[in-house]
Amino acid sequence: MKISTFEELIAGHEFVNGLQEGIWIADSHGSIVFANLSLARSLAYDDPDALVGKQWRELFPENEAARLTATKPTDDICIVSDSTILGRDNQELPASVTVARKKVDTTTWYFGSVVLTASPGAQAGLSDTASHQVMENAVDGICIIEHGRISYVNRRFEELTGYTKNQLGRLGLDKLVIARDRDTVAQIISEPRDVLTPVHHEVRLTTRSGHETDCELRVVPTISDSHTVLLCFLRDISELRRAERARTDFIAMVSHELRTPLATIKEAMSLLSDTAGTELKGRQRRYLVIAQEEMDRLNRMISNLIEASRMESGKATLRLEPVNLEQLLSQSLESLSLFINRKSLRVDKHIPAKLPPVLGDHDRLLQVFNNLLDNSIKYTPTGSSISISARLLDPNAPVLSENNVLPNTSYVQVTITDTGPGIPAEFLDRIFGKFERVDPHGPGIGLGLAIVRSIIRMHHGKVWAHSTLGEGTSFSFVLPAKNNNP
Ligand code: ADP
Repeated sequence: MKISTFEELIAGHEFVNGLQEGIWIADSHGSIVFANLSLARSLAYDDPDALVGKQWRELFPENEAARLTATKPTDDICIVSDSTILGRDNQELPASVTVARKKVDTTTWYFGSVVLTASPGAQAGLSDTASHQVMENAVDGICIIEHGRISYVNRRFEELTGYTKNQLGRLGLDKLVIARDRDTVAQIISEPRDVLTPVHHEVRLTTRSGHETDCELRVVPTISDSHTVLLCFLRDISELRRAERARTDFIAMVSHELRTPLATIKEAMSLLSDTAGTELKGRQRRYLVIAQEEMDRLNRMISNLIEASRMESGKATLRLEPVNLEQLLSQSLESLSLFINRKSLRVDKHIPAKLPPVLGDHDRLLQVFNNLLDNSIKYTPTGSSISISARLLDPNAPVLSENNVLPNTSYVQVTITDTGPGIPAEFLDRIFGKFERVDPHGPGIGLGLAIVRSIIRMHHGKVWAHSTLGEGTSFSFVLPAKNNNP
């Protein structure tokens, strides 16, 4: 082959540029004199001329360049099918590479050809340079794990962690999170994945500088070349968490501040009712009762807000003690008596005398009764009835096989049944969520049942609702009995 032939080849750019393979030609010093369009595109360069003048070895990570030149002097050609080439932003791209060395007259030339084998874009189901650019410029950190090792990370992932691609390849994803989350992350990335279900997890990342950041980790398993590849997306949610904390702190502070003047007003009204009660005329007395009742409602609302913010901040703890349910119920009914009397409701109690106490936090369980009874009273028509029953559960009761329930422990079940309008079936579960209401324009803020569920869950119990539209609703919950093994 004569040098003029190369020149002709190079001059026929259209043919060379039309090739699928990336091609380069370098002189005896290893300096690239020509690169085709396909090579430039594969490596995310806009123009092949951007590669001219570079050392061809610079296109490869150090160890790969060494592999590609580790041929004996007699060898003219070196083929490495599992090599990697560096993209413009130094991203390592898996490739099959051929380097041929040819002496023409007295000059040595290097000819290289590159075929990308499985670019990260291709692994993600995307196929061209544009898709690679999408990955590189994504707002989320993205990394790909194959055979338990990180094989690709995008720019944002490097920014979030503070580590370079190479460092991350050696480290592994589980080493990037605080000790608390390490096992969970290790399990997510090591689990054999028969079912390709994405997994979400909130984790706390430790950056290279030791800074901790709240992140959402989403792991999406996919199949590539008959093995499982994990696409991991990392999103910084520290700002969101900070805003939530600020909101929770604000609600907690305002609620606490409201409590003191409210307690004073309540006390003043009760003094007024006691001292001036007989002197007040019928209508004045009714106004006073309504004011007292609304004051109680405001108090319950504030308690719910304080409890909700405590639970959100993770500061809620239980002070467990034996709690007598009959007494707790009386206390709750007493605090709601104005409301019950105004609606002339009949309250039927069915609590066996020998019912064991439950093991619980007195004040929180009082809040459970208050919230459930408050709703029952609110929704039951004037002159109707509410019934409250409690019983020791059979150890084989189906509800005791639920996840959160303690094994080998006796449970007590409480059911509060009203004769209100009922709740549509599709809402029976939803209403236990925060701010969920059947009628968004109705009274209340939708926190009561969410708090009931959190409190019951903290006690290793369960709460649920049954309802028949037009007939009424019953709310039931189970709680562990104190020292009463079956
Ligand atoms: P709030 O009462 O403050 O709105 P809750 O979480 O206590 O919040 O209740 C959520 C919703 O569930 C209520 O808005 C109402 O739509 C429905 N609900 C709760 N209890 C009853 C009940 N006993 N009868 C009918 N609907 C109810």
